[in-house]
Amino acid sequence: MNKPSTKNIAIIGAGAAGLMAAITSAKTGAKIHLYEQNNKPAKKILASGNGRCNISNTKVSSLDYAGLNPNFSSFCLQNFTFTQLQKLCKEIGLFLNILDDGRAYPLSNEAKSVALAFENAAKSAGVQIFNEHHISSITKKDKKFYLHTSLNTSQAYDKVLICTGSEAAPQLGGCESGYDLAISLGHSVIPRYPSLVQLHINSKLPEKMSGAKQEAEVSLYINSKKEQTVKGDILFTKYGISGFAILDISQMASEALLNYQAVDIGLDLLPKIDRQALSSQLQTSCKNLPNYTIESILSGLLPSKISRQLLEDAKINNSTLAKDIHTKMSKKIVSKIKDWRFEISDTHGFKHAEVSGGGINTDEVNDKTMQSTLCEGLYFAGEVLDIVGRRGGFNFAFAFASAYTAAHSMTK
Ligand SMILES: Cc1cc2nc3c(=O)[nH]c(=O)nc-3n(C[C@H](O)[C@H](O)[C@H](O)COP(=O)(O)OP(=O)(O)OC[C@H]3O[C@@H](n4cnc5c(N)ncnc54)[C@H](O)[C@@H]3O)c2cc1C
Repeated sequence: MNKPSTKNIAIIGAGAAGLMAAITSAKTGAKIHLYEQNNKPAKKILASGNGRCNISNTKVSSLDYAGLNPNFSSFCLQNFTFTQLQKLCKEIGLFLNILDDGRAYPLSNEAKSVALAFENAAKSAGVQIFNEHHISSITKKDKKFYLHTSLNTSQAYDKVLICTGSEAAPQLGGCESGYDLAISLGHSVIPRYPSLVQLHINSKLPEKMSGAKQEAEVSLYINSKKEQTVKGDILFTKYGISGFAILDISQMASEALLNYQAVDIGLDLLPKIDRQALSSQLQTSCKNLPNYTIESILSGLLPSKISRQLLEDAKINNSTLAKDIHTKMSKKIVSKIKDWRFEISDTHGFKHAEVSGGGINTDEVNDKTMQSTLCEGLYFAGEVLDIVGRRGGFNFAFAFASAYTAAHSMTK
């Protein structure tokens, strides 16, 4: 039998990573203090997956992540697999529902059951949770870490885990403070950018189409080169464009904007119909319905808000009769429907982002232990690191796996 750990450990941040690390380390007998600046733990879990919490994914691998070194995630994802997460969840009374594409949700379909199960498990494992305790600084002296709180208290610890998340969603506790704490202990931070976020378009058109939704194929162009294509919902908004397909390309788009690259999107508004078929469909409709306006012809293909603006952008009067639509005009319409280009000027910002790219430089962290290679006894886990996942439960998957790995290493 393993000897109980006598370690005195501080964990900063009671999100997904902090709770997982606290539960795992407390099981070894270590004394765990979990500090949270909010009035309760797990606010992001509570808001996640539209209130349902997409807790993980059965098909997770390092290919689902971005960062300077996405492969950093590889070891911990193998060290703590989806099956292990599912087993742990079961032990703490949380049952999962797995969808065909691998996404996992709580069986209750309620994010609050995830937050509650993890908080209760931490408490019953003996973790002391200090809500409304913001850690403002950390100092290290004679191998001991001293944590200073906003309430001016200070405690000494053998090990410290920083899992303070990112500045995404400040309304839920997102902030930069973990980066500042890491920098004060010698670490460097890769520039951050909002990810899984809506995009701003450099045009007045989206505002005029605001509220119109369409199943589309979205291509992302960086410096005019096509880099990514995804299919899914798009939604025009006052500021630009939203929807699952946009969130999916936002990671690469936002990183490119950070690096001052030219970012454009091309929308295929009818991905199920190829150019040729669309062209002959349009010509047939115009021939069969010669006295209809082109706007009413298009209303059989696209939401009216979209077709009206598409015609305006193609400089075709929407009251033009179908019989007067000549080949050049019809080609222009088909071109816009199949590849309508928009320049992306910005993202909708950290306030609306689900996650942040960038973070603590993973070159300075051991991927087998999550320990700093610069400061012995200091550990990192979760989104504070320069690892960001795509949509589908991958961000929680990395938060849990990195926290589990850190916990095992801290209590050895
Ligand atoms: C709206 C929304 C929906 C999402 N949906 C999903 C989803 O369905 N699936 C998925 O995989 N991911 C989702 N995410 C992303 C996911 O929530 C995060 O990637 C994940 O929470 C990261 O976990 P973490 O523990 O690293 O950080 P967090 O969960 O952000 O936890 C960090 C905690 O640290 C606290 N803190 C920060 N600084 C200090 C300090 N100095 N002192 C004390 N406490 C501090 C914060 O208040 C916070 O509670 C979503 C995010 C948002 C915003």
